[in-house]
Amino acid sequence: MNREVRVRFAPSPTGPLHIGGVRTALYNYLFAKKHGGKMLLRIEDTDQKRFVPGAEEYISEALEWIGIKIDEGTQIGGPHAPYRQSERKHIYRQYAEKLIADGNAYYAFDTDQELEEMRKRLEAAKVVAPSYNSITRMQMKNSLTLPDDEVKRKLAAGEPYVIRLKVPRKEEIRLHDLVRGWVMVHSSSIDDKVLMKSDGMPTYHLANVVDDHLMQITHVIRGEEWLPSAPLHVLLYKFLGWEESMPQFAHLPLLLKPDGNGKLSKRDADAGGFPVFPLDWKDPQTGEIYMGFREQGYLPEAITNFLALLGWNPGTEQELFTMDELIENFSIERISKAGAKFDINKAKWFNQQYLRKIPDTELAQTLKKQLEEKKIPHSSYNMEKIVSLIKERIVFHSDVWKEALFFFIAPQQFDPESVRTKWSSEAANIIAEFKKALNNLTDIKAENIKTILHQTAESSGLKIGKVLPALRLAITGAIAGPDLMAIIEILGKDETIARINYALQNINHKIPT
Ligand code: GLU
Repeated sequence: MNREVRVRFAPSPTGPLHIGGVRTALYNYLFAKKHGGKMLLRIEDTDQKRFVPGAEEYISEALEWIGIKIDEGTQIGGPHAPYRQSERKHIYRQYAEKLIADGNAYYAFDTDQELEEMRKRLEAAKVVAPSYNSITRMQMKNSLTLPDDEVKRKLAAGEPYVIRLKVPRKEEIRLHDLVRGWVMVHSSSIDDKVLMKSDGMPTYHLANVVDDHLMQITHVIRGEEWLPSAPLHVLLYKFLGWEESMPQFAHLPLLLKPDGNGKLSKRDADAGGFPVFPLDWKDPQTGEIYMGFREQGYLPEAITNFLALLGWNPGTEQELFTMDELIENFSIERISKAGAKFDINKAKWFNQQYLRKIPDTELAQTLKKQLEEKKIPHSSYNMEKIVSLIKERIVFHSDVWKEALFFFIAPQQFDPESVRTKWSSEAANIIAEFKKALNNLTDIKAENIKTILHQTAESSGLKIGKVLPALRLAITGAIAGPDLMAIIEILGKDETIARINYALQNINHKIPT
C-alpha cells in the first residue's frame, strides 16, 4: 500500500505553544516534506474549560515564524474541513454510538459524588490505582449494570451521562512505535476512559482517533507524554474497524532541563533567564508574561536548526542546516529515545552562526536604525566596515549597536581593574610616541598603523603585547574587541588622537605594572 504521507500537528489552544510543541510541529513538517506529503494543523479544542483566547492565533503565528507551511488546517481549510474540533462536534457522536452498539462502550450515569465515593471505597480497600475499570464498573451506575428499560428511561429523561470505553479485562495491547520499537501494555492497566463528556463534547481520545482516521493521517508524530495514551488509541482503532489503516506512531523524546534532571519547564527558563516559548505571550487571564525567542532576538532559522538537533541527529558532523537541508536529511530512524537536554548556549551559538550569514549592507542598515532609535549620533563612519568588524561578536541582531557603540561614544571613564592590569607608564610613553607617528602618517590604513605601532614599541624595547592592550583601553575603553588596527582605520586620525590624549590625561600613569 502506497499512501500519501499525511501528518498533523494537533495542539490544544490552552496557552502559548511550548518550544517542545514547536519541535513536534517541525519534525512532522520535515517528515511530511521529505516524503512529498501533507502537513495538517488541527486544533484540538474540545476541552472548553481549558480554552484560552488568542492561543490558536499564537500557534499559527509561531509556526509561520519558524517557517512551517501548513497544507491543510484551520486557517487555510482543505478537503477535511473543519479542522477545529469544536466545529466537528456532530461527527464524533455516531462513532461513540457505534462503539456502544458493538458492545465496546457504554453509558455511565454516575454522579461526581458517586465517583468520589467509589474512589474512597477503593482507597480504603488499599487498591493501588483506584479507577473505573473492567472490575469496578460492575458496581457502578451504567448501561452494563442497570436494566435496559431504566437506561432507556434515563436517556429519554435527559439525565446526564458520559460514554465510557469498555476496556477488555485481559488483553495484551501491542503497538509498534517508530522511535521506541514494540510497546506492550496489558489492558488491565487501562481504565474505562470517558469518550464523550456530559456536555456532549468528545474527549481528546475519541476526537483524536476519529479525526486521524477521517483525515487519513498516516503517521502520528507527537511528544512522549502521549505514549501512555497510544494503547488506548490502538484499542479504539480496533473497535472502530480501522486497524488496517491505523497510522504509525512515533513518540518524540522529552526536552529536559539544562542539567538533564527532569522535564524542561517554564520555571527553569525563568530561573535561567531564557525563553521556552517561540513568541512573547501575555496570559489574558493572569497577565503573566511569557518571553519568546523571537522577541529575545533569536532568528527563526537558528531556532529551527537548534530544535531540529534536539532529539534528532543527522549521523554526520554537520550542524548548520537550512530548512531544505533538514527536509532532505531528516529520518525518524535517527530520532533518539533518550531525552534531549535543552542547552540555551547552543541556541545562542546557532543564532551567532546565522547572524554571520547576514550581508554587511543589511546589518549596516540595522546598525543605523538602532543608533537612530537610541538617539546616538553616528557621524560619517563607514557602517559596513564597522559591522564587518564586529559581526563575529554579535549573538543577537538586536545587539548590533551595543558591540559597535564604542565607535560612536568615546570612552569617558576607565575601569580601574582594567587599568591596573593593562596600563603602565611605559605603555603610556609609547602610546604618546605612537600618537606623534600617527599624526605624521598620511595613509591611514590598518597595515600602516600596525607598522608604526611596532616601530614605536621596538625602538623603546617594550614588547608589543604590553602596548596593545593599553592602546585598546585608551581607544575603546575595553580590554577585548575586534582588530584594533582596523578600528583605528575606521575612527581616523583625528578621533584616535583625541581619544589617546583623553586617556593619557585621565589614566593614572604611576600605577605600577
Ligand atoms: N491535543 C494534543 C496536544 O495538545 C495532541 C496530542 C496528539 O498529537 O495526539 O498535544
